[in-house]
Amino acid sequence: MGQMFKEYLTGPRIYCCSNCRAHSADHEQIFSKSFKGRYGRAYLFNHVVNVCLGPREERLLMTGKHTVADIYCNCCRQILGWKYEQAMELKEKYKEGKYIIEKTKMTKESW
Ligand SMILES: [Zn+2]
Repeated sequence: MGQMFKEYLTGPRIYCCSNCRAHSADHEQIFSKSFKGRYGRAYLFNHVVNVCLGPREERLLMTGKHTVADIYCNCCRQILGWKYEQAMELKEKYKEGKYIIEKTKMTKESW
């Protein structure tokens, strides 16, 4: 395994990994707050940092069949959520390339 670089975000409102406090996402990158994860509420982000991807797999979600990959914190390996790689339903295509982070897996950095 190579060296892990930690990417720092500089916005005023940053979400961190709830376990190790590595930066995960900028509040500005939230696409939608009305998603449901495995553990309750989850946010859909356009962009996240310091994550690594698990294997792609097909998953049947509430909104139909999707190809997703779990995302893990790059620093502590806690699972944060998943990335939408592909959506089968046309009306779900907007999610492709975006990331879900479970609300319980992130914490706000001093705001
Ligand atoms: Zn972490």
